Amino acid sequence: MTRTRIAIVGLGKIARDQHIPSLAASAAFELVAVASPHSRLDGVPSFSDIQTLLQAVPDVEAVALCTTPQVRYEAAAYALERGRHVLLEKPPGVTVSEVLALANLAERQGVTLFASWHSRHASAVEPARAWLAGRKISSVTVTWKEDVRVWHPGQRWIWRAGGLGVFDPGINALSILTRILPGALVLQDAELSFPSNCETPIAAQLRLVDPQGARAHVELDFLQTGPQTWDIVVATDAGRLSLSLGGRTMAVDDRPVPIVESAEYANLYAHFAELVRGRQLDVDVAPLQLVADAFLCGRRIEVEEFVE
Ligand code: NAP
Repeated sequence: MTRTRIAIVGLGKIARDQHIPSLAASAAFELVAVASPHSRLDGVPSFSDIQTLLQAVPDVEAVALCTTPQVRYEAAAYALERGRHVLLEKPPGVTVSEVLALANLAERQGVTLFASWHSRHASAVEPARAWLAGRKISSVTVTWKEDVRVWHPGQRWIWRAGGLGVFDPGINALSILTRILPGALVLQDAELSFPSNCETPIAAQLRLVDPQGARAHVELDFLQTGPQTWDIVVATDAGRLSLSLGGRTMAVDDRPVPIVESAEYANLYAHFAELVRGRQLDVDVAPLQLVADAFLCGRRIEVEEFVE
């Protein structure tokens, strides 16, 4: 099998932590170039922007966009217009309309667009979805609390409009929720806490309802010190499902369910390879839509300024 020649655009934390090692281990892709305004990758041709990269290395077939979300649309449109397959890191854009426009463009061009949600590839997510299928859900509780100073040191873009603030991790929870629950969730109410010096929230509470009337409560916090919490609990007519560690482990009525461990980003790239082979799209805006709705209807509370 010939490997798809891929470039990474945006050489920051997630590119180095996950994309580069996953591509190095992939039989489907070959990393041939990178583009980033200030960063370089030893041993791989490095350029400052996607335009220069595609001119210098024209046989690049696919790009993985690992930039900050605020610049994703422009780079994605540029690559799609030139016939390249595109993988978008999460969130796929700063607005829903951007992502839908990219999906239309990819369709017209006959190339793949993958709006990836890495948390959906965590080991226990598909087993949880299978367990919930056919069960009647009575309530859902999501607790997603992490320390922004530990996980996002120095990332000022998170606090600027389009950076999502606490929804940067929170959208991972929503990406799992919208995958495992059988029906579409409707956002009813939200409360967003904005530090006085930031354009994005540092905490949020969401209330949602599923088509059968089951209520979901989502609590997001970016100032959690000590143990970190990435939990989803779904109460049903036939037991209580708990997903912990961001979708890596699962229990039913507190009894652990054995799960075959696999790596999120290896799974994510295996799925991208399949999409590229079939020139298919995988663009699900549901998690981004819920965040957009929270910004639309949420009450805004001002809280003390955030100092890193
Ligand atoms: P980061 O460390 O701040 O890296 C962002 C990178 O984007 C920077 O290295 C910057 O390049 C690059 N960049 C900015 N403008 C660019 C442009 N116009 N063209 C090309 N590159 C550009 O952020 P991150 O943590 O990697 O997050 C990036 C994305 O991945 C976010 O959407 C985030 O939600 C997602 N993500 C992050 C994690 C995580 O654990 N951090 C996990 C999963 C997903 P220079 O360094 O060259 O200035």
